[in-house]
Amino acid sequence: MKKILAVLLALALVLGFAGCANKKDTADTTAASADKGEGLKIVCTIFPQYDFMRAITKGVDSVELSMLLAPGDESHSYSATLEDISTINSADLFIYVGGESDEWVEEVLKSAHPKKSIAIAELVETLEESDDGIIAQEEEEEEEGAFDEHVWTSLKRSSKIVTALGSALAELDAAHADTYSANAAQYAKQMQALDQQFTALFSTVKNKTLVIADRNPFRYFCEDYGIKAIAAFSGCSSNNEIPLSVQNELIKALKENGLKHLYVIELNSSDYADAIAKQAGAEKLVLYSCHNLSKEDFESGKTYIDFMTANYETLSTSMA
Ligand SMILES: [Zn+2]
Repeated sequence: MKKILAVLLALALVLGFAGCANKKDTADTTAASADKGEGLKIVCTIFPQYDFMRAITKGVDSVELSMLLAPGDESHSYSATLEDISTINSADLFIYVGGESDEWVEEVLKSAHPKKSIAIAELVETLEESDDGIIAQEEEEEEEGAFDEHVWTSLKRSSKIVTALGSALAELDAAHADTYSANAAQYAKQMQALDQQFTALFSTVKNKTLVIADRNPFRYFCEDYGIKAIAAFSGCSSNNEIPLSVQNELIKALKENGLKHLYVIELNSSDYADAIAKQAGAEKLVLYSCHNLSKEDFESGKTYIDFMTANYETLSTSMA
C-alpha cells in the first residue's frame, strides 16, 4: 500500500513538472525572479497608482505589482480583507490615495508594516472638497479641511505624481534606478502632451459646462481647464439612485445650457441617465474617472492614458 502511494506521488510530481514545462512563459518568469532573488513587492490600493507603477516598472521583471481593488469592483465600498492586510504587511512599497475613501488605511497601517508607504494625494497640491454644482447635497458630517481626493483626474497632477513615484522607486531599488527614472519621465511626458491637447481643446469651447448624471470626481480635471460641472452627487458619494427632483434639475440644466450630451462615469449601470437623456433630447456619454476599470479592460492592459485619451476623444466631439 505504501509503495503504491509512493509511486502515485512520484507520478504526480513528474506530471506536475511536465505541466510546468509546457507553460513556458510561467516557468521562465519564475526562474527569472528566482535568479534575481527577492523582487520588489509593490502593492497599490486602486487603479491610478497601479497604472503609474506598471508604467514606471516596465521592463523590470523582478517587480511584483498588485492592486487590492478587484477590477470591476466599486472602489468606494472597498474594505481590506485579512489577506489584503497581510499583503500590505509584506510589501516593500504600499501606495494609496490618502483621502476620505482611504480612512481604513490609517487603521491597517497600525498593524501592517510595509517597508515604505506613499499617499499620492500628499505628492501634489489638493483642493478642498466643494459642493459647487452638486445637486443632491448630502447631510454628512463635514470634516474640517477635508480635501477632494481625486487628484489623478488632473493630468498636470498625475505627471507630478508619476515623477515623484519614479524617484521614490529609484531610491528603493537602486539597481534599476535608471529604468525607473526613464520610464517615469516618458510617462509624465505623455501626460503633459495630453494635457496640452485638452488645454488647446478647451480654449476653443464656448460653453464649458458638463452635466453629469452621476457623482462628480472630476473637480481637478475641471479646474485645469475652467470647466463648470453640474452633477447629481459629490465625488465619492455612495448614492446611485437619482431622486426625481434631481433628475428634473439635470434635465433643466441640459435645456438651459442648450446641451445635447449627458455624462456618466464608467461602470455606471443604472437606467437613470438614459431616462434623463431621453427626456432632455440628449445623448448619454461615458467619461472615465479611472477609479477602477472593468475586468476586460484590465485583462487587455488598458492604461490611464488610454482612458484619458478616450475622454479627450469624447469631449472633443461632444463639446466642440
Ligand atoms: Zn472617489
